[in-house]
Amino acid sequence: MASARLKLPQVLGIPIFVDLSWFFVAALIGWSLAAGVFPALLPGMPGPVYLWMAVAGTLGLFVCILLHELAHSVVARAFGMRINGITLFVFGGVAEIADEPGRPSHEFLVAIAGPVASGVIALACWAVSQPFPVLGGWPAAATTLAYLGQLNAYLALFNLVPAFPLDGGRVLRAALWRLRGDYAWATHVSAACGDLFGLFLIALGFWNTATGDVMGGLWGVVIGMFLRNAAASGYRDMQVRTVLGGMRVADIMTPDPIFVSPQAVVGDFLTRYVYRYHHRSFPVVWDGRVMGVVGIPQVATLTPDEWAATPVRDIMVPCEEPDFIAVDAGVVDALRRLGEAGRHRLWVLDHGRLVGVLAARDLVVLASLATDLPALARHGGTAPSARDASSPPHFTGPNPLDIHT
Ligand SMILES: [Zn+2]
Repeated sequence: MASARLKLPQVLGIPIFVDLSWFFVAALIGWSLAAGVFPALLPGMPGPVYLWMAVAGTLGLFVCILLHELAHSVVARAFGMRINGITLFVFGGVAEIADEPGRPSHEFLVAIAGPVASGVIALACWAVSQPFPVLGGWPAAATTLAYLGQLNAYLALFNLVPAFPLDGGRVLRAALWRLRGDYAWATHVSAACGDLFGLFLIALGFWNTATGDVMGGLWGVVIGMFLRNAAASGYRDMQVRTVLGGMRVADIMTPDPIFVSPQAVVGDFLTRYVYRYHHRSFPVVWDGRVMGVVGIPQVATLTPDEWAATPVRDIMVPCEEPDFIAVDAGVVDALRRLGEAGRHRLWVLDHGRLVGVLAARDLVVLASLATDLPALARHGGTAPSARDASSPPHFTGPNPLDIHT
């Protein structure tokens, strides 16, 4: 979700984004509706009518996917999970729920809320689109609504396939988790189902391509690949969280980092610190407090004849709040902060005093331990505590791109 996205007004206090890839798929859907689907469903109307039906159908699909994601988000929020936002993108929608569900029943209810919303919308569209009594005089509106009803039924059913990270896969995970009380095992099985379903979609896509439906087939292949990838990364995230989730920064930091006094002159800094310890940068510390950071890039702003007379404090870069983490913070929080702030390392503070350093590369090593030793994660047993986790997003997908015509 790193590509450019447009921010829409919040709904129910939840930020809504549209990834630019959505506009690409919306244009394709609109075109296929105007040129193929609606003329086939309701022949004999003038051209502009199909155009308006296509615009309404595409906007309607947007709203329906949004409602599906809102249903997930509202239920998750009711259980105290934080919602980062909802994004619509090329494959459908994503609700970014920042916390893992703390128990199987929460996971089940959050997951099932989306398909239930789509199912209710499908029934409502179907009921309103029946010629008698509401829309009898407006066949174009009735046809568009009937079509949206079908799309929502499809969204509900597709997302109920028990293939993690689809909603059905989360329902499966909740059931398995409940059954054995083993969150890691439940994720492992449901992600394996997600992988299998992805393979099935890829095979089906190639079959469809070979038998004449080139665009629809290729779309299936792409969605299958996306699902396999999402299932694998969802499982990997869970492993990392399970191993790192219970750890504190204090457990894994490098204690007592080498620091420089602000009064040290640059020449001494080079000979006594840089040449000896080979670190990228050093904290500048006075009375236990980090004042800033100094390293080669700052020294490079001076000429060598200035080295002997310039104190480090004149060239150091001041630290900002995201450079620090509390010694009792969770490792997953540290991981998130490193990712969000684009930092190489965090200074670890205990009541404002520097007590350690946490390098991003140490966390990478730990995270790869988690994936190299699945047994470690399996034996984690229960879910990581809800506040520690950053959940893989809730997908709704795929977009029913229907380009047969
Ligand atoms: Zn969903």
